[in-house]
Amino acid sequence: QVTESAQKKYEELAELDKKHFFHPSTSFRQQKAEGPGFIFTEGKGIYLKDIRGREVIDSLSSLWNVNIGHGREELAIAAMEQMKKLAYSSTFATNSHEPVIRLAAKIAEMAPGDLNYTFFTCGGSESNDTAFKTARYYWKMKGYKNKTKIISRGKSYHGVSIGASPATGLFPFRDFPGLSQDHLYVDSSIEALKEMIEREGAENIAAIISEPVQGSGGVNLPPSQNFFKEVREICDQNDILFIADEVINGFYRTGKNFGIDNFDVVPDMMAIAKGITSGYAPLGGVVFTDRLKDELTELTEGNFYHGYTYSGHNTACAVALKNLEIIEQEKLNENVNLMGAELLKGFKYLEQTHEEIGNIRQIGLLGAIEIFKDRETKTTFEEPVSLKVVEEALKHNMIGRAIVYEGQDTIAFAPPFCITKDEVEKMISIIDTSLTAVKQRL
Ligand code: PLP
Repeated sequence: QVTESAQKKYEELAELDKKHFFHPSTSFRQQKAEGPGFIFTEGKGIYLKDIRGREVIDSLSSLWNVNIGHGREELAIAAMEQMKKLAYSSTFATNSHEPVIRLAAKIAEMAPGDLNYTFFTCGGSESNDTAFKTARYYWKMKGYKNKTKIISRGKSYHGVSIGASPATGLFPFRDFPGLSQDHLYVDSSIEALKEMIEREGAENIAAIISEPVQGSGGVNLPPSQNFFKEVREICDQNDILFIADEVINGFYRTGKNFGIDNFDVVPDMMAIAKGITSGYAPLGGVVFTDRLKDELTELTEGNFYHGYTYSGHNTACAVALKNLEIIEQEKLNENVNLMGAELLKGFKYLEQTHEEIGNIRQIGLLGAIEIFKDRETKTTFEEPVSLKVVEEALKHNMIGRAIVYEGQDTIAFAPPFCITKDEVEKMISIIDTSLTAVKQRL
């Protein structure tokens, strides 16, 4: 039941939203016609509440980022305490401050191998820009004039900046700014990767980037357990840098510290963001190996001219430290594996109950189910069903994420790490009910 004053406030804000707010990843026409859907005001755990008092399950931790869950006051206090002392100070040149130093050290402690040295950004796109720029700089300084191309995988998502969007394999994002000569896309086969390097020439390729487990492309695991070991070997044989995009995977989402830890590989650089602060403040970074750091030191006489005003923002770093501390203290990282197993149980139940469900996959609290007309032959419906199921789920107060791309008709899940067994079962039951309802209308 919506109160009159809540409805009035919604309408006032909706008018202003339509007139003044340019939404990210939006349909202009839908926004113009319908205005905002939810105007969120509060959150607690896995739940979000909107201005008209409606409470909904946030099954994707918003944008795969609110890992600790909504409404953690300790993070607000950490931000407030830091802001009262020093909200922001520059980290350019040799300037520093305690939260950024402690956070960089914490990341080194968590990261695999000799990934010990972090450059900070405000998010994932800036992190990937930084990784590409540094890779090109590195090869240029080593005397390679044309080692500039970046190879990424089909269905990958690496962000939307002018550097990151052409690296994104998902076509609508990459096509938008125009195709770049400097970017190449490869499917998930090692053979195709080898052929591409042969064809393009290793002397023209700076780096290969991949999400260990793809997120926005539909929660796709690598084609084999050995895939990244082989990619690493190919990179070493051809003098190509390997960048792991850990923006979604990093900080326990897959049940390990970083996604790449599942495959026992040490990349040359790791792009991080999202889960580092659980979204309580914008922050990202690139983690470099000692080897790369030492070589960059050798190769660079003067300044390395790359840095954002908010590289290592004091308050954001203080929030990140508190976020990681709470996740460890409350063993939320262990809960990722426990609840991941519950999620898989739920997927198996859905698979048994609905003959349309197949290709279930789960790693930590990252998972997906696919919908087929005939799961034996992997034939999909003409019209994607996942979108309809997610629409139906909303009626049962759950925000779901459908991913429809190149014949994949997928529903993805990435709930906050604080989720309970009952809450996992509730999510699964909503999908069960919603799919049943949609099937009756097909
Ligand atoms: N890389 C991956 C794997 C992502 O999932 C995202 C965002 O979803 C990005 C990069 C871009 O990050 P941001 O939106 O913070 O720029």
